[in-house]
Amino acid sequence: MAEDATSGRGDFDRTGGGAVLMDGNRLRDEIVARLAETIEAAGRPRVCLATVLVGEDRPSRIYVRNKQRKAAEAQMESRHVELPADAGQAGVEAAVAELADDPGVHGILVQLPLPDGLDADAVLNLLPPEKDVDGLTPRSMGNLVRGRSGHVPCTPLGVMRLLDRYGVETSGRRAVVIGRSTLVGLPQVLLLGRKGTDATVTLAHSRTADLAGLCRSADIVVAAAGMAGLVTADHVRPGAAVIDVGISRTAAGIVGDVDFESVQAVAGAVTPMPGGTGPMTIACLLENTLAAARMQGAL
Ligand code: NAP
Repeated sequence: MAEDATSGRGDFDRTGGGAVLMDGNRLRDEIVARLAETIEAAGRPRVCLATVLVGEDRPSRIYVRNKQRKAAEAQMESRHVELPADAGQAGVEAAVAELADDPGVHGILVQLPLPDGLDADAVLNLLPPEKDVDGLTPRSMGNLVRGRSGHVPCTPLGVMRLLDRYGVETSGRRAVVIGRSTLVGLPQVLLLGRKGTDATVTLAHSRTADLAGLCRSADIVVAAAGMAGLVTADHVRPGAAVIDVGISRTAAGIVGDVDFESVQAVAGAVTPMPGGTGPMTIACLLENTLAAARMQGAL
């Protein structure tokens, strides 16, 4: 291995090929335990996360259930609102507005995607910034762009937590983010490049020429394209850190954007899929919920 992304710091589990395994389940459990301790130490104030699920999307249902389970472990209360796919724009907006007005609810997560025909932006716009624990409203995104405090989108924040926990240096390093969505890619670029983190970031997308060559120039690659096996060993500079955000449902099951087997033999650090960024998204949602409760004076 050439210069290692993790600078040899820490006593971490490694893959068969010698890369540090950036274990999201382990880090999520550490974060959830810390949140529970904080709430316990504050005298167990009520901290409440509300989830809103519209329609019958099965992966969304599983995801929401996992969030509720982890919220309970973190000593948080969950409130769940479920609406049928035909609830209509007014029905969904009324349910979200009610939670927004409820002082007993500190964080609100509207599970996306909403069923066809519903305007997600109009629904998200009803969230007060302090309750927007997913960090996806224009106000929260604007705060992130302007370097102001506020809730940060959970998936890219989870990537930052993984890099930090596993000792991946960012300052002065080159990073490539594959994907430019407002959910993952764009906020990821902002987080990696902001002052104090100080990576030099390139944003790649479906029109990027020579993606493999571009990625090979990077110390950190974050893949958030949703293209199964897009990133192979050919895309990875020896020793680089590779983070897989993508989720694709294939005949062979759920796979990521990263071809784990080939990449782990070259990379200095790599996330597993599953067990990498997915659990971290939930951990960061709960972190944001505690921050939301603080902003609202609950502790
Ligand atoms: P999205 O809105 O579909 O965006 C995908 C981005 O990837 C687009 O910018 C697209 O480029 C780019 N892209 C697609 N194919 C590419 C290719 N062959 N080469 C380079 N770039 C390519 O998806 P998203 O919402 O950001 O989500 C991305 C993936 O992350 C999905 O698989 C999603 O399921 C997963 N995800 C995971 C988590 C987690 O917790 N792990 C959370 C959220 C999302 P263009 O802009 O040019 O079209």
